[in-house]
Amino acid sequence: MLVEHPDATCPACPGTLLYRFSATVNGWRVVFLCARTCGFTETAGTIDRSDIDHRDERHERAVEMDEQFA
Ligand SMILES: [Zn+2]
Repeated sequence: MLVEHPDATCPACPGTLLYRFSATVNGWRVVFLCARTCGFTETAGTIDRSDIDHRDERHERAVEMDEQFA
């Protein structure tokens, strides 16, 4: 499932950024990618299953990870 980031833009082009979760043994990896498919795709970080109380918190965490691409 791809989710549009509310305000991040691609560091390589004017496209907006999307993110998706990739399940790992301990939680999820957050992968950012460009909505214009310019080729930008990067793992922004990981979320530990034990770090969150509810699955919806994954989105808050993912949205905060855009700072490294600003
Ligand atoms: Zn791009």
